[in-house]
Amino acid sequence: MARYLPAELIKKKREGGALTADELRFLVEEFTATRLPDYQMSAFLMAVYFRGLDENETLELTECMLHSGHVVDFSDLSGFKVDKHSTGGVGDKTSLILGPIVAACGLRVPMISGRGLGHTGGTLDKLESIPGFNTQLSLEQFRQTVKKHGIALIGQTQEICPADKRLYALRDVTATVENLSLICASIMSKKLAEGIDGLVLDVKFGSGAFMKSTSEAEELARALMAIAKGYGKKVSALITNMDQPLGRYAGNALEVQECLEILRNEHGNDRLRNETRELSLQLAAQMLFLGGVGQTLTDSKAEALKVLQNGQALAKFEELCVAQSGRLQELPKAKHQLPVLASQSGVVQSMATETIGYLGLRLRAGRATVADVIEPTAGFEFHCKIGDRVEKGQPLITLYGSDSELLQEVQPLVAKCVPILEHVRQAEPLIWKELTL
Ligand code: URA
Repeated sequence: MARYLPAELIKKKREGGALTADELRFLVEEFTATRLPDYQMSAFLMAVYFRGLDENETLELTECMLHSGHVVDFSDLSGFKVDKHSTGGVGDKTSLILGPIVAACGLRVPMISGRGLGHTGGTLDKLESIPGFNTQLSLEQFRQTVKKHGIALIGQTQEICPADKRLYALRDVTATVENLSLICASIMSKKLAEGIDGLVLDVKFGSGAFMKSTSEAEELARALMAIAKGYGKKVSALITNMDQPLGRYAGNALEVQECLEILRNEHGNDRLRNETRELSLQLAAQMLFLGGVGQTLTDSKAEALKVLQNGQALAKFEELCVAQSGRLQELPKAKHQLPVLASQSGVVQSMATETIGYLGLRLRAGRATVADVIEPTAGFEFHCKIGDRVEKGQPLITLYGSDSELLQEVQPLVAKCVPILEHVRQAEPLIWKELTL
């Protein structure tokens, strides 16, 4: 007989009570073993969304999720193991650039990432737009790939963080993502399972982030950093702007293409691609600095830039794709494109980035239900940034995908996401704050 009645635990949280470690462990274990049905876990997640978890509950949930599978042991592997994790956004593709940069500089990068969550994109979905790319390596294959190539990128599996694998997929489709404790436990359980020595956090704020204000983002960053420190990891964080999509593209294959252009040094002086490049370099510098590559952050950034410019980072990315069976040369391209044109002249006032992310789901660039299959070529190309002057008829955003009817349907909705007025509007900087411990 089960030691608790799930409905009683759901009710306890619904009424604002604090669950004991054993009660939380029961829920996580039963859910991971598929004995607790999705509808009960969904109800529990919604109760947590409204009532929150206190500090002890958050730590306990992280601990149960971390130990729902194996914790990778890299003690036999020399070298500093470091990862980066972003709290999520639209067009947020830096992992595919900074991972190869850091591995090319000699550190080890064992990365466990997620799929798209809510309106945000996910590294796994981006990688899986590369035909054949296998993100579901076994624990041993993951260890061997990091050992041989210095980098591996996988998702939560039955062996590593299975609790997050199931909870993440459920939160994605039940509107239960934006809760500080659930985000902390989800991120930190994955990251602590990787066997890393150091972690850099990219905590987003703004219209396309889960945390809308800088103060909420800072609170999340500090909570994540405290957990990392409690587990003896070196950690730092950048708090960065997601008031508008990052870089030129959002959408799985489109983002891989942008990363390839940057890794190939083909970005030219396109300021949108340069924005992706700059944030990737800054985050890579933080990772290298934690790992002792460079005496100062400036030195670390110079090392990152060197391997990006001399092609070693590109070679590492190509090596990673081959190691995980990805056929980069077969990256798919969209059959159809449809521009959204400015309906008047003026200045771009804002970008409804979360709505753009959700419209991406309508284009099938992400999932609306657990069972949805992603269309890898679907997404957006951005032609402007907040504060830009645009003229009537000029393209603001181009929609991409394989279904032209879907593009037609979504086009007028996207147009509403970019208000244009005659007022001058200053965009906020991309990096708001750096936090170290
Ligand atoms: N990233 C994660 O891995 N989990 C969350 O809950 C949010 C962002």
